Amino acid sequence: MEEPKYCPRCGAKLEKKLVGDKIRYVCPKCGYVFYLNPVVAAGALVEVDGKVALVKRGVEPGKGLWALPSGYVEADETAEDAAARETREEIGLEVKVEDLLGVYSFGSPGEQHGVLILYSAKKIGGELRAGDDAQDVRLFAPHELPMDKIAFETSKMALREWLRARMMVYKPATEAEAREAEELYKRYEGKDCDFVSLATLSGSELLVAMDQGSVVGVCGIRLEEHIDSALITKLFVKPNYRRWGIGSRLLREAMGWARDKSVALVRAEAGATNPGIVVYLKAGFRVCGFLEYPMLHPEPEPGAFLQLCHAV
Ligand SMILES: [Zn+2]
Repeated sequence: MEEPKYCPRCGAKLEKKLVGDKIRYVCPKCGYVFYLNPVVAAGALVEVDGKVALVKRGVEPGKGLWALPSGYVEADETAEDAAARETREEIGLEVKVEDLLGVYSFGSPGEQHGVLILYSAKKIGGELRAGDDAQDVRLFAPHELPMDKIAFETSKMALREWLRARMMVYKPATEAEAREAEELYKRYEGKDCDFVSLATLSGSELLVAMDQGSVVGVCGIRLEEHIDSALITKLFVKPNYRRWGIGSRLLREAMGWARDKSVALVRAEAGATNPGIVVYLKAGFRVCGFLEYPMLHPEPEPGAFLQLCHAV
């Protein structure tokens, strides 16, 4: 980080001085305090056919190493716009920025000098092509990731999380896993939910996402009587596992189950203010109704609910 030399207000030479408990750059003439703020960078994790796009850097820092497309946010753009712009410049892809994946501080400890805001993004155009500052650009499947040749700790952390989400096992729950899911749900939502019945009775299924043997996500589905449909009764992902596509993947598994049962439609209901609704919309569900009280919901709660549906 470059040291500031002159006061931006009066032009006098700045001096280092203890202000409070920190050494700061202070103008001896007008008293202006020059605060050193971290720079803000934005980046994108673009997944194409299950592979992640990385750029091989052609300049220092990290020359010759791989990184997620990212760069500094300009003063006249949003962080989302910066992530899309850097992706276009560095790897040639036009993307639509989707979810916030994480915020990572970078720089040496004691002198943190930047914050990276990382988004997931979807390819909407362009072709994979290395930008002017890059040596190469490539798509990596989870098992191909060059983890020992990643340029920045921020990219490494994000890729480790992506990898972990990709290594997750999705399966119908055993009774023991259903109990574990009940405990997980109770711990975070403060409510009981009968997952064991869904897992063990016929006409229903409980799908779980497992990370190294532990339940981290759950989706319940059951056939509806008299109508040719199935209902998603619950979709829950452990908070620190959200945004990595686990909910979407559970919904896909549930759609597969419904397909095997030959139903025509899968329905779901979600609180009208529940931000989790986007998970359904991204999985292809559409809003098909609005309820003050959920009539068909297995555990009625007061409130406004959106009805969502997806043809099988
Ligand atoms: Zn000054």
